[in-house]
Amino acid sequence: MGPTTGRALPHPAVGGAFTSPVPPGAGWPGDPADAATPVAHGPRDAERLAGRASLDEVTARSTVCRACPRLVRWREEVAVAKRRAFASEPYWGRPVPGFGAPDPRILVVGLAPAAHGGNRTGRVFTGDRSGDWLFGALYRAGLASQPTATDAADGLRLDGARVVAPVRCAPPANRPTPTERDTCAHWLDRELELVLPSLSAIVALGSFAWSATLAALARRGVTVPRPRPRFGHGAELSLDGPERALLVVGCYHPSQQNTFTGRLTQPMLDAIFERAMTAQA
Ligand code: SF4
Repeated sequence: MGPTTGRALPHPAVGGAFTSPVPPGAGWPGDPADAATPVAHGPRDAERLAGRASLDEVTARSTVCRACPRLVRWREEVAVAKRRAFASEPYWGRPVPGFGAPDPRILVVGLAPAAHGGNRTGRVFTGDRSGDWLFGALYRAGLASQPTATDAADGLRLDGARVVAPVRCAPPANRPTPTERDTCAHWLDRELELVLPSLSAIVALGSFAWSATLAALARRGVTVPRPRPRFGHGAELSLDGPERALLVVGCYHPSQQNTFTGRLTQPMLDAIFERAMTAQA
């Protein structure tokens, strides 16, 4: 890790004193890494460290990754500067790993952590309005233990589902570069490879997730049609997974831009997960 410059502040749930960004092994709830976790300093490191890693290793190693200089700088600057509403909280300020069941039937693919959501709490879709929408829907579908996700110590568990961001660091303006996407794909590819045998459905939240998912599946040896089918809300693709049929479903991202404007409603989101559930083996 680089220097932690944020002053030590108590975690809103567990207290203690954490600098921002949080050093690995400092006691942050759910921190999968420690001071000995190997750090990727560039794309080749990420490829090597993800290559044959276990799911636990992918989870831990990705949270200390420093392979994308622009994103490392941004996530850590945001962690120190903070948003006024969270000025009294420590910020995770590190990459945000996949979260949920190790053998999911449904994989939810997003875009990247929000600067003041996942980048603050250290858990994907946790601590912002998008997460309220997503975990609310997973709860109503019977895939989450509770409908809310406030912080990494809130007790949320996923049953049969896993959520992952194809880019694990918060990007400026929610826009990773193609190079950053491709570098982070080393983590996504290995995680996908490890969970693919149990999967029946993938829900891709937005066009970035749709494209990243299809590209990752193709790299993992799944036959994906060319030209690649276009993203749309409710778009579907039936593929032959390694163990069983795999349904890929497109869904508008539950960003405030979509939920505030009514482009994505709660019934629309629920219908996507109902459809994904029908694909279960
Ligand atoms: S975006 Fe991914 S590859 Fe890049 S620094 Fe973050 S975790 Fe590493």
